Amino acid sequence: MRTRTEKATRRQTREHNRRLVLRHIFDAQDGISRADVARLTRLTKATVSDLVAELMRDGLVEEAGIGEASSAGGKPPLLLRVVDGAREVFAVDVSGDQFRAAALDLRGRVLREQVADAEDLTGEAALARLDALLDALYAERQAPVVGIGISSPGLVDTENGIVCRAVNLQWQDVPLRERLQTRFGVPVYVANDSHLTALAEYTFGMGSPDANVVVVKVGPGIGSGLVLNGQLFYGDGFSAGEIGHLVVADDGVLCSCGNRGCLETVSSMRALFANVRHWLTVHPDSPAATLLTPPLSCARIADALAVDARLGDVVDETAHWLGRALAAVVGVLNVRYVRLTGPVRVFGDRFIDAVQAALHRSVLPELAAQCEVAFGALGDEAPLLGASAYVLSRELGLR
Ligand SMILES: [Zn+2]
Repeated sequence: MRTRTEKATRRQTREHNRRLVLRHIFDAQDGISRADVARLTRLTKATVSDLVAELMRDGLVEEAGIGEASSAGGKPPLLLRVVDGAREVFAVDVSGDQFRAAALDLRGRVLREQVADAEDLTGEAALARLDALLDALYAERQAPVVGIGISSPGLVDTENGIVCRAVNLQWQDVPLRERLQTRFGVPVYVANDSHLTALAEYTFGMGSPDANVVVVKVGPGIGSGLVLNGQLFYGDGFSAGEIGHLVVADDGVLCSCGNRGCLETVSSMRALFANVRHWLTVHPDSPAATLLTPPLSCARIADALAVDARLGDVVDETAHWLGRALAAVVGVLNVRYVRLTGPVRVFGDRFIDAVQAALHRSVLPELAAQCEVAFGALGDEAPLLGASAYVLSRELGLR
């Protein structure tokens, strides 16, 4: 019994060290010597050499170039680097009107992309479309596949890879991991799209690896994700960051969840569009009216704003309620970075300023002053990038 435990522990230690070595080679973009890997990881040179040999056998690492000899003289060292194309990661985002699937390399660069129209697709039909996208990626793979990451809307049991409830897709308790693992024979990870967007912004959009960040996705609904101490924070029921249904307006509009005055009823794009339509009935002779024809979009509203500045109040109100809700998050967590994503980006500084002003009025001034609100660095591809980052970190320890 004891030897079995010891064996298991040794295997775990080896796996941990292998990840550590790979991670340091990955982070050193210009190549790194075995001696420097040993110094940085505090492992012995023999252990590092052994693990590097294994990583080279697996095709993940190669010798590329010669470094400078140390001041003590001796032979200049061979430099190691990760072979970016040694593995592929598949990522699929099923949270939008289109399903987007991509094969990415180890640096999160998109190698191939597949897009499929998915509006009105639900249940089994949506699952079949997802299968078809992955089939197409799999058929054209150029390297072994590390794993598949799925960005799903709704409530996701990340631990077991089950989509518990995604209303728009009419998915209820769908064991996506089991289903796709059986089909493709590689590890599968499933997470909520707002959570993965937060992970993507943290991984690819923030300069600081020790940043705590809240990323809010303002779309038809509102969701957010938290990265705390470098880790995605799911909450005990996988619903951390579910701020869309925080009630902010007393006696407000009835929400799809059954309550009144949820953040989504005042700050989502759906709410903004409804408010703009109402504004038009009050200002029918506005010169902006000809620009505000259906289908409404944030881009159209931004154009109209340039023609009739009075419309700014409607946009500011959307931002105001968002700031009020964010105050609760900032008050609890004292995070330094808040990032907003979604089409509201077209409103620029005006939107950010209004969010920040509301935040300042709703939380301890010191906390508000420490908090920087800005738009995220990534676009619509964020959930895909987050899904691939998630697979890479779980399977290979890379970020
Ligand atoms: Zn609600």
